[in-house]
Parts: sequence; structure tokens; C-alpha cells
Amino acid sequence: LNRRLDGLGTTIFAEMSALATATGAINLGQGFPDTDGPESVREAAVRALREGHGNQYPPGPGIPELRAAISDHQRRFYDLSFDPDTDVLVTAGATEAIAATMLALLEPGDEVIAFEPFYDSYAACIAMAGAKRVPLTLRAPSFRPDLDELRAKITPRTRLLLLNTPHNPTGMVLTAEEQSAIAALAVEHDLLVVTDEVYEHLVYEGTHRPIAALPGMRERTVSISSAGKTFSFTGWKVGWVMADGPLVSAVRTAKQYLTYVSAGPFQYAIAEALRLPDAYFDSFRADLRRKRDLLGDGLLAAGFEVYQPQGTYFITTDITPFGEKDTYAFCRALPERCGVVAIPNSVFYDDPDAGRSQVRFTFCKRDDVLNEAASRLRHLA
Ligand code: PMP
Ligand code: GLN
Repeated sequence: LNRRLDGLGTTIFAEMSALATATGAINLGQGFPDTDGPESVREAAVRALREGHGNQYPPGPGIPELRAAISDHQRRFYDLSFDPDTDVLVTAGATEAIAATMLALLEPGDEVIAFEPFYDSYAACIAMAGAKRVPLTLRAPSFRPDLDELRAKITPRTRLLLLNTPHNPTGMVLTAEEQSAIAALAVEHDLLVVTDEVYEHLVYEGTHRPIAALPGMRERTVSISSAGKTFSFTGWKVGWVMADGPLVSAVRTAKQYLTYVSAGPFQYAIAEALRLPDAYFDSFRADLRRKRDLLGDGLLAAGFEVYQPQGTYFITTDITPFGEKDTYAFCRALPERCGVVAIPNSVFYDDPDAGRSQVRFTFCKRDDVLNEAASRLRHLA
């Protein structure tokens, strides 16, 4: 095995979902909804398949209808303008967008500053590019980034800042002030910024603002998002990259040799999804906010310390009240103990001790499933 892949093994999401399947436990681990997205969007995919749209290799950058819809969505929600012909690239989920971006923009030895706990694919993609990840630790209970610490971590080798807001797994949403301070550092040190915004529509406190909209940022920012979370089609793997033409063109070069192009018919369907009326986005968010509170109350009642997330569909908790010392052992045993699967946050830290007492639960499930999980967890104490 290539040494760059040392320690990357099987993703925690695959491991814990397999455990859920093997034990029949309720899976509040991997973040995927148990209710599919809008019927009209599913029908659009079926129509595309039937009518032969996208059954053969679609255009490399993505079908024009989807690129136009991505561009219009950015203008509609954030007043940002991306030329669909030069500034938008469709990818196989945000996962491929992250991989292609890292492979396209990093030289071996470059340093990437990224929040910790980090989404697992960041560590893998930075390693595969031969670069070095420098963690900026977000600490409980607020998980706010320490901007003095960020400044102190910038060295002459720092090439890019990898942001994620709303943040998986903590649910932290960067404030306007934090974004401005980060942008100022990026400009001062001439850094690239890659921002993973897959939870852009899942914000319950505050608002999501793309950092690309700030002065001096447009030409140095690669924005990444995807359809999986926003439209509840995580299996379709439709994602995208938005940036100035030269950056997109570099990422496209890498993408060409990863997947060549992304699957066709779903692109037609997501082009329609992005044009759904505001009411769709508003009611989706309201529904998830209610689920956040439902599961949050259940976890509190079960004895967990709960860190209220401002966004995403995850709640990070602390298991110290149970006298537990090792989140991984806790999560391995949880299905046996009470029939629930969760994710040990220790895997999202370089130093597993840092997240040793944190467990992540997802709330993107039906109310009856969340209620049943909460009642099972009450038997833990
Ligand atoms: N980034 C973050 C922060 C995520 O949580 C996920 C998981 N959905 C992804 C990227 C990957 O997104 P996709 O499923 O579109 O590849
Ligand atoms: N983003 C999802 C999560 O954090 C999982 C995606 C994956 O399995 N790679 O749970």
C-alpha cells in the first residue's frame, strides 16, 4: 500500500453503518436521511433516464442546464455571480470536488490549515496530494475557531485554508466577523481558501454566507457544495465546484482523470431541484430544526451533555456524564447495549485523546425513529 494511505483504512461511516446493519440497531451514525427528497425531483431523474438524457457520457464540466442552475442558485441566495461556462464544474458529490481540488492545487510539502475535528475525507485527500494538514482545533463547548491560533499557524509553506461551514461534526456555523477575519488573513498571506458548504441550507441559528462574497476573496476561493444534503439524495452523488475560471480549469484537469465525467440523468434532476421555490428550502430547514430539538431533548434526558449545533444534521455530545473514557469503545458497544449506532468523534482528530469523550448523532431521521432511539438511549444510565 502507498504509504500516503497509512492509517486511512476503512472510513468510520462504512464501519459504523456495517455495524448497524449487522446488529439491526437504529443508525444515527452516518448522515443520510431515511426519507428521500422531493417526488418531483425523483420524477425528473426517471424522465431523463427514459428520454435518454444523460445515458451516455455527459459533457465534462457537467450538463449546461445544471451549471446554469448552480449559477442561478448562487445569485438567488447569495447574490454571487459565477459564469456557468467557466466558473462551475459538476463533480461526483462534494467528495470528488474535495479530492480533485486538493490534487489540483497542492504541491507535495504544502501546508493546509483545516479545522479539527475534520470531515474524514479532508485528511485522506490532503495526504494523497502529498501535502501536510495543520489542524486548527475547535474546542467544546462552543467550537468557535481561535483566530489568533489561526494566525500563528500560518507559515511560508501554508498554501490554503480548508474551511467547512456549517461544520461537520460540531454544527458550528462561522459568523460574519469570523469569516471577515479569516478572509483578511487569506488576503494578507496570499492564501487560497477552499470552502466546503454542503450544509449551506441546514442552518438553524445565524445565516450561511459564502466567504467567496467577501472583498478580495472571489479570486482566491474555491467553493464546494452538493445536492446530497440539500435535497435528501445522498446516493445520487451530484456535487459542484465554483470559482474563477483558472481555478475551476485546474480542478477540471484533475477531475477528468478521476471520474472523467459525472453520471448524467441525475444532473438533469438536480438542475430542477435547484430551481425549487424558496418554500422548499424554508420548510426543509424548519423540519430539520424541529428534529434537532427533538433529538437534542432526547439526548439530554438520556444523560448526555449536548452541544447545540447551529447547523448541519449532527449533534455532538459528551459522554463524560456516563463515566465513559473512550468514545470509540462506547460506540462499538452501543448497539449491544441499547440498539443505537453513533459516530465516535475521536476519529476526526489527529490526537484521538482530544475527541475521546465526544459522540456524534444524526437527526435526519423520521420522528418515530428519533423518539425510539431516544427512549433506547435512556436505558444507558
Ligand atoms: N463534506 C462534508 C462536510 C460532508 O459532511 C460530506 C458528507 N456528506 C461531504 C463533504 C460529501 O458530500 P457528497 O456526499 O456530496 O460527496
Ligand atoms: N457526510 C456523511 C457523514 O458525515 C457521510 C458521508 C460518507 O459516508 N462519506 O456522516
